[in-house]
Amino acid sequence: MTTRAYAESLDAVDPLAAHRDAFRLPDSVIYLDGNSLGPLTHAARAALRETVDVEWGRDLIGSWNTADWVDLPRRVGAKIAPLIGAHADDVVCTDGTSLNLFKVLSVALDKRAGRARVVSERHNFPTDLYVAEQAIARAGHGQYLYRVDTPDEIDALIDDDLAVLLLTHVDYRSGAMHDLAGLTARVQEAGALVVWDLAHSAGAVPLGLREAGADFAIGCGYKYLNGGPGAPAFIYARPRHQATLEQPLAGWFAHTDPFAFETRFEPAADMRAFLSGTPGVLGMRALEAALDVWQGVDMAEVRAKSIALCELFIATVEARCAGHGLTLASPRAADRRGSQVAFRHPEAHAIMPALIDHGVIGDMRAPDILRFGFAPLYTRYVDVVDAAEILHRILDERVYEASCYRQRGVVT
Ligand SMILES: *Cc1c(COP(=O)(O)O)cnc(C)c1O
Repeated sequence: MTTRAYAESLDAVDPLAAHRDAFRLPDSVIYLDGNSLGPLTHAARAALRETVDVEWGRDLIGSWNTADWVDLPRRVGAKIAPLIGAHADDVVCTDGTSLNLFKVLSVALDKRAGRARVVSERHNFPTDLYVAEQAIARAGHGQYLYRVDTPDEIDALIDDDLAVLLLTHVDYRSGAMHDLAGLTARVQEAGALVVWDLAHSAGAVPLGLREAGADFAIGCGYKYLNGGPGAPAFIYARPRHQATLEQPLAGWFAHTDPFAFETRFEPAADMRAFLSGTPGVLGMRALEAALDVWQGVDMAEVRAKSIALCELFIATVEARCAGHGLTLASPRAADRRGSQVAFRHPEAHAIMPALIDHGVIGDMRAPDILRFGFAPLYTRYVDVVDAAEILHRILDERVYEASCYRQRGVVT
């Protein structure tokens, strides 16, 4: 069942279909890159206008109080919390993902200073590994980073020398998803800590951080949370860690009373301890408003539709594009996959620009991955079969061989 009529019949009974109206999506485009930059919501657009014209433009500095700008990190954190299975006080919104990783990892390394091994994946998103190396060097406990090549190697490394397990929950390229609850339990049984990067998970798959007892997590605001380019990111910490957070980039907003202007630093005994300086108000207001689209959304329904979209895409591409050199780079089993699908092709670098030129926006990840993200709040089943059909045409007619598709942009 990979026909357009079948896809239309699925859209007609889709319980999430109406949420698409909350987004400002161009008509001529099938957008399968919300895992890299979520689209603009009408709510974020309106909130930015209001913030600029009224809060900043008219009320000026008074808005720190009257519009409660000062509490944005906690307010936006509280809105992210239900999406990741956390309580409102367990999350703050601040800075960017890379910076936040440096902060939480530094805390975790200090808490397990007597243990030497930090484990992550060789194919983790590069920033995570760069940051991990620097945090380890700066912590000065003689710890080292061990990179596994495959997830099967992780279990054997969970022992009494493990300090921290640092994993990206859903792999940015393949979409392969780790067992968050199972790994968290095994790591903690061994007395170690776990740090989850939820960049490709938050807003894409149901998460139960509190229930799993996860120690720390960080995630992006601009991917499935649709906060806008460079949107602020978030941090989660397990309640038992929150009173003792000493992170290396604490600034005055991490002080228990910033406006007392005390000469001596006293960290807040809650998630504010992860803050550094003045929040980026425009970015936070955009993200705050974008998060409104999740009101009343059942993450189980999001997951069900995400699986259905991904399965339909795989089935349609494999049926229509057979013999054209594509191989599935994502796990075939839906329960091992996030909300994205990747195919390998030796000409991926030229196929993706050709696809984009023909109205299907995905992205390419070096060296040979075509990556497609499916965001159940706005992706329709017809988009899935239409995208597969356009991919077929580009492969079948060798459209990608045109010289105009051979120039690589700076950002892929
Ligand atoms: C997108 C992504 C990031 C991005 O980090 P920034 O600091 O926002 O640039 C980090 N880690 C992973 C796993 C990602 O997918």
